[in-house]
Amino acid sequence: MVDLQSQYTKIKSDIDCGIQKVIDSAQFIKGTVVSEFQHDLETYTGSKHVIPVGNGTDALQIALMGLGLQPGDEVITPTFTFIATAEVVALLGLTPVVVDVDWETMNISIDSVCKAITPRTKAIVPVHLFGQCANMEAILDVAEKHHLYVIEDACQAIGSKYNFSDGHTKQAGTMGIVGCTSFFPSKNLGCYGDGGAIFTDDDALASRMRAIANHGMVVRYHHDFIGVNSRLDSIQAAILKVKLTHLDQYITNRQTAAAYYDACFASLPNVLIPYRDSHSTHVFHQYTLRFLDQSKRDFVKEHLAAHDIPSMIYYPIPLHMQKAYADPRYQTGDFPVAERLANSVLSLPMHTELEEEQLAYICQHVIEALKA
Ligand SMILES: *Cc1c(COP(=O)(O)O)cnc(C)c1O
Repeated sequence: MVDLQSQYTKIKSDIDCGIQKVIDSAQFIKGTVVSEFQHDLETYTGSKHVIPVGNGTDALQIALMGLGLQPGDEVITPTFTFIATAEVVALLGLTPVVVDVDWETMNISIDSVCKAITPRTKAIVPVHLFGQCANMEAILDVAEKHHLYVIEDACQAIGSKYNFSDGHTKQAGTMGIVGCTSFFPSKNLGCYGDGGAIFTDDDALASRMRAIANHGMVVRYHHDFIGVNSRLDSIQAAILKVKLTHLDQYITNRQTAAAYYDACFASLPNVLIPYRDSHSTHVFHQYTLRFLDQSKRDFVKEHLAAHDIPSMIYYPIPLHMQKAYADPRYQTGDFPVAERLANSVLSLPMHTELEEEQLAYICQHVIEALKA
């Protein structure tokens, strides 16, 4: 699905040099390169504060902790997402309230959000799924009206830009009170292990979350909050500092590959290419087709596998149908769009190093399978 080796080969000398510097300095935790990367990312995203943390899941957890949410507080998340979005809500003893998504964007449905709001609702966690921003203008409006926090799960969407109707533009992760991202290796800005970051413009919240990520410590050995141990290590920061300078090019490469796929599949029957929301750029963390017929989808997947082409179903089971999240409030059938998507989606190889020859090979086999 990704080709991290070819990508590394092109930036090897800069990466190797960055890693070697960390080893020479022996500042493996909290090295100067961590704050350098933090500042570079603040400049890139336009976020006032970036808090580097251990991974994207921790970023979401620390955001909820920093906002002071309490057991019993309800947090709205889409049911069609990676499990981490709801996992941290459940872990903290908060109440996950799942809602449906839109068939076109596959992002959280604003109608479902509105229906799910109760007096106990405290936050909405929109996920910018596959690299395209959720309907942030509507989400921020609803949140303001009901005094809710918006915590963006931008783990798949770093660098995506959202245009508001008054003309201003913001990056994924910088629109809510807090935004979270992941530097998992296969993410659009990936390191060589685990990593993540939190974005906020709120000074007090930033210092609280920075402390929580470091055992709740403000002054050394003075613990003002119950915290966690979640740090971005210096070697990962050194890698990310190099890769951030290539992020715009990486996004362009993904968009070019997506345009190639689009041109091949746009006019085929029974399959839909990714919908483009006019408010958001799409950074194509995934290129995800929707098949109108599940058996066709499954046949295409098998046909691709037989020709050594990987493809993935993100995500095969919505959250409300997961064993660990079984809840008498929810039954199969409650979120028809998410359930239909789970049976419709297929993500094709998508990364920064796709050559035209590879794209042509993949397209040829998808088309072949669809016609069979
Ligand atoms: C990857 C991902 C996460 C978690 O990030 P990790 O760094 O793997 O912990 C959370 N939410 C979404 C939508 C993701 O894609």
